[in-house]
Amino acid sequence: MSYRAPLSDFEFLLSDVVGLDQVTATDRFADATPDVVRAILSEAAKLSEGVLAPLQRPGDVHPARLENGVVRTSPGFAEGYRAIAEGGWIGIAAPPAYGGLGLPMALATAVNEMMSAACLSLQLNPLMTQGQIEALEHHGSDAVRALYLPKLVSGDWCGTMNLTEPQAGSDVGALRTRAESNGDGTFAITGQKIYISWADNDFTTNVCHLVLARLPDAVPGTKGISLFLVPKYLPDANGDAGPANDLSVVSLEHKLGLHGSPTAVMEYSGATGWMVGPENGGMAAMFTMMNNARLGVGVQGIGVAEGAYQHALAYAIERRQGRAGGKGSIVEHADVRRMLTTMKVDTYAARGIALLCAVAIDMGVATGDPVWRARAALLTPITKAFGTDTGIEVAQQGVQVHGGMGFVEETGAAQYLRDVRVTAIYEGTNGIQSMDLVARKLADGGEAVYRLLDEIQSEAEAARNGLSGLAQAVWDAAETLRETTEWLVACDDLQDRFAGAVPYLRAFARVLGAHVHLRSARMAGAGPRRALAAFYIERLLPEHVGLLAHVQAGAGGLYALSVEDLAA
Ligand SMILES: Cc1cc2nc3c(=O)[nH]c(=O)nc-3n(C[C@H](O)[C@H](O)[C@H](O)COP(=O)(O)OP(=O)(O)OC[C@H]3O[C@@H](n4cnc5c(N)ncnc54)[C@H](O)[C@@H]3O)c2cc1C
Repeated sequence: MSYRAPLSDFEFLLSDVVGLDQVTATDRFADATPDVVRAILSEAAKLSEGVLAPLQRPGDVHPARLENGVVRTSPGFAEGYRAIAEGGWIGIAAPPAYGGLGLPMALATAVNEMMSAACLSLQLNPLMTQGQIEALEHHGSDAVRALYLPKLVSGDWCGTMNLTEPQAGSDVGALRTRAESNGDGTFAITGQKIYISWADNDFTTNVCHLVLARLPDAVPGTKGISLFLVPKYLPDANGDAGPANDLSVVSLEHKLGLHGSPTAVMEYSGATGWMVGPENGGMAAMFTMMNNARLGVGVQGIGVAEGAYQHALAYAIERRQGRAGGKGSIVEHADVRRMLTTMKVDTYAARGIALLCAVAIDMGVATGDPVWRARAALLTPITKAFGTDTGIEVAQQGVQVHGGMGFVEETGAAQYLRDVRVTAIYEGTNGIQSMDLVARKLADGGEAVYRLLDEIQSEAEAARNGLSGLAQAVWDAAETLRETTEWLVACDDLQDRFAGAVPYLRAFARVLGAHVHLRSARMAGAGPRRALAAFYIERLLPEHVGLLAHVQAGAGGLYALSVEDLAA
């Protein structure tokens, strides 16, 4: 399906809105000069538009399949993967010592968005590998890093993450896969994992699984979980893929969408694995991969939103229906305008939030400053949940803009919706992200939130000159969010906090999105960015009031009806 990368939005957001210049002013990222940034964005756009976008439809129509225990991928995916690997895109943010480009996460985030917009199901493969690279870089032994990282960075080998089991989904602590010492520094891994993305393929020479499992004496729950690297083929004396390990792909799921991405049931039958990180410290090690992937999955939603928006706009310009003023195409109808403009401003807001998160990650890496690290930790669940919710809502509106043709597969509008739906579920459901926000991310007494709200209000002050009405609305919204945050911080009953977690996260994203739009309007001066900011702030931001009222209602009302009442 066709796709045009929104390069001017990326360039403007990076240079004028989210502060990439702070990142490139550090020694760590000094190589990311403006010329490098421009060249990377434009090359990634070429790859996404020319090579990956044509694979989106074949991936849907010809799903990955299992033949005699081997996964056969969709037509063209092998060539698409090779183009991603040979372009160096898998290792864009990986350390140069292992062959990576060492560029900022902010840039990697823009690149990942383009690739997911073009072909979500294929892009999930390198996304998993990127997370594994980061996990091994931080928690792998010297030997593991030296052997695996160059091969993962080059794309010769790829990586997966194995948490989920039938009885252990959101509740990872319930997992039962066992790990027993072989007495030679390796472990025998036994158990079944389900829903494993890209568990196998026919284009890399090895697949490296990061598997959560329990040692025999481990305590129950998440404190008794360790992490193991379990390759499909055991490395031989030269470090190449050698004999097959004791693991197999049992079956592939038949899914609503994302057909090009094989989602597997995996059986580990005493497979050889190497421990990553300390004994019983597996969750902390896996969290490195999960945090990377949470930003990446949020960005998947944003990419799909962009693709769905472009398709809906093109259709709306073409389709003639009704007596609309002007040329008679449906783009002239007020309600279609409402849908298209909502799609555009929400996608932009979510993109700005993701890039703010990525800049915070980069600053944390470059400076080690705990304030930046706390900012990144705060923005990660918001980016994941709001990015993916936006992907779903925009794709859903895209179907509506197409009318009946949206429900017919040939336009591709439905595929965007089917493909993106899972992003709100995997990598921790959006409900779990919201609970993380109101519990763990407020454990500092709200300090990171209040610091961010101070900055949003300072930006609003700066925007008063020329944008006074919009600036006041953003300032007020930040203040309302501050008051609700104070209520949450003071609330001892976690159940009350959890009851309002999803509306709180969404209200937070609304305020952040308004901040991104307001700053964009101020930095751009005249032009359409002002009209976009006005649309977002005047029509979408007010949603935060109702959402925050919901937050403070607590849990009581949720249990006013018994399960029997619900069933009546
Ligand atoms: C296409 C696809 C690809 C996937 N890829 C991978 C992969 O590569 N690796 C991997 O390990 N896993 C993968 N998963 C699994 C995915 O991460 C899980 O499906 C997800 O974490 C949810 O777990 P679950 O399906 O068991 O749902 P459940 O945990 O049963 O959740 C069901 C509902 O209950 C809610 N819920 C659960 N617990 C709580 C709670 N404590 N408080 C409030 N609400 C709660 C959830 O938010 C959800 O709405 C994939 C899944 C799919 C569908």
